[in-house]
Amino acid sequence: MAALEILKFPHPILRKRSEAVNQIDEEVKNLIHNMRETMYEAGGIGLAACQVGIPRRVIVLDVSPIDPQHGFFALINPDVISEEGEIDHEEGCLSVPDCLEKVKRKEKVCVRGRSPEGTEIEIKGDGILAITLQHEIDHINGILILDRVSQLKREIYRNKLKREKRKEEKD
Ligand SMILES: [Zn+2]
Repeated sequence: MAALEILKFPHPILRKRSEAVNQIDEEVKNLIHNMRETMYEAGGIGLAACQVGIPRRVIVLDVSPIDPQHGFFALINPDVISEEGEIDHEEGCLSVPDCLEKVKRKEKVCVRGRSPEGTEIEIKGDGILAITLQHEIDHINGILILDRVSQLKREIYRNKLKREKRKEEKD
């Protein structure tokens, strides 16, 4: 097991739609182990495979620091099969550092996918579980929180990155 590098905006892999996993082989299982390690090391509550440079439809979650009812799980080829309600939620992202933005989300979702053992599972949730599921499924569809905020906020973030880059170059 090893923690992997987390790609940051504007890396192009973060904008790609990830490919479905057809076979849950050792490679996929190792990926899940490493994603788990990477998520914990970074202090995150969710991670998508594309964030570590692997554009496949795999996500890991552990929202227990916020909602101790739920523990760690991994989902392969997850899809939202039903949703209800709407809420605004302030979100951050390991791939979009120093950005905390209010994002419109569904209040409740039901997500279907496969466990690392290959079993079909359905996860129904609300609160932080529902939000994190939507955030990670966005990732495997190439969508970042920056795509869900106003153009102005996106510009402000881009300019901030440019300023930081210029500063780094000077130092
Ligand atoms: Zn994220």
